[in-house]
Amino acid sequence: MDRVDCVVVGAGVVGLAVARRLAHAGREVIVLESEEAIGTATSSRNSEVIHAGIYYRAGSWMARMCVSGKHALYRYCQDHGIPHKNCGKLIVASNPKETEKLQSIKAHAEANGVLDMQMLSGEAARALEPALACDAALLSPSTGIIDSHSYMLSLRGEAEAAGTFFAFHTPILRAKAAGGVIEIEAGGEAPMTLQCGLLVNAAGLSATTVARNVDGMPLERIPPAYLAKGNYFSCSARAPFSHLIYPVPEPGGLGVHLTLDMAGQARFGPDVEWIEQIDYAVDPARAERFYPAIRKYWPTLPDGALMPSYSGIRPKIVPPAVATQDFLMQGPRDHGVEGLINLFGIESPGLTSSLAIADHVAELANV
Ligand SMILES: Cc1cc2nc3c(=O)[nH]c(=O)nc-3n(C[C@H](O)[C@H](O)[C@H](O)COP(=O)(O)OP(=O)(O)OC[C@H]3O[C@@H](n4cnc5c(N)ncnc54)[C@H](O)[C@@H]3O)c2cc1C
Repeated sequence: MDRVDCVVVGAGVVGLAVARRLAHAGREVIVLESEEAIGTATSSRNSEVIHAGIYYRAGSWMARMCVSGKHALYRYCQDHGIPHKNCGKLIVASNPKETEKLQSIKAHAEANGVLDMQMLSGEAARALEPALACDAALLSPSTGIIDSHSYMLSLRGEAEAAGTFFAFHTPILRAKAAGGVIEIEAGGEAPMTLQCGLLVNAAGLSATTVARNVDGMPLERIPPAYLAKGNYFSCSARAPFSHLIYPVPEPGGLGVHLTLDMAGQARFGPDVEWIEQIDYAVDPARAERFYPAIRKYWPTLPDGALMPSYSGIRPKIVPPAVATQDFLMQGPRDHGVEGLINLFGIESPGLTSSLAIADHVAELANV
């Protein structure tokens, strides 16, 4: 049986960042990916926003990794010529009650280390965005957007340059962990067995399934899995905004917000739809809920302008009734299995946090 230092399961943005980090530390790495290419799952079905770290629970992994990951990601983009834009975001209040909430959002952001938020009057917000309807707004200057595909290609290139091997069409089927050695059985077109000293489970929506198939992994340490789909609608009209526009969050979600891609094209969403099976189809009827929500801050959105676009699925590890979850990153100290690291619940801000998560994995693995 072939032996390798490290196996990373999943070539999404997190698996890629982890592979690069381990390879740069001199480790021999193989990435097993069930699909034909990198980043075909959640990593290519998101908003491509570099989040500031405003809303996450203070002290949570999400809050910490988002803030440190954001700085690392901006640096990475600059150093590697990755297309990105530090365009900023406006959180807009439509009435005096929401305006009051902006102060508490600002205080929460500050507790998370996001110290650059600015309160704006309605007039000052309109000086930035003349088409905006609002009572007041909160400006987050450190929010931005990124071409996530260029970023993932760059991570893959760096990992390969440092010796990482990528095996596509190669799903991990099962593994057996004993005495610091993990034996892996992979399927696909060229089935293989491998031995490794470190297995990083970065399988996104399938991370809980992969963990269940590791003989030796205590089942009670594996969280439950739920799927929360986020649907997007694109806009046939050119949206007259240069900042990302978010309403004041409502219970259960961030509200229907506007993000921009690198070409300046607007998209609205994601909403929240709890589902039982992976299904990426977008129901056009959901647009009916988008129009009134968007018109609160963009009253001139034309009728019929919204078109179903794409969807992504959040790998939830808490049920719908629980408002928030955190990243669950387990090393041997958490589950007792030497050489195994599980990354569960890596939903937003996983893209922003990817480099910080990779550093944390390296710490868990004593690399
Ligand atoms: C709707 C939505 C919007 C989002 N917006 C943002 C945003 O704007 N900013 C941000 O920071 N974050 C955002 N996120 C979060 C971000 O997209 C994810 O956190 C990130 O993409 C997760 O990457 P990953 O590598 O963990 O998972 P994935 O990209 O899902 O990768 C997992 C990989 O594992 C592979 N795999 C699965 N099972 C196996 C197996 N058995 N063997 C081998 N390979 C396997 C899959 O094929 C896949 O390629 C958003 C998420 C969603 C759902």
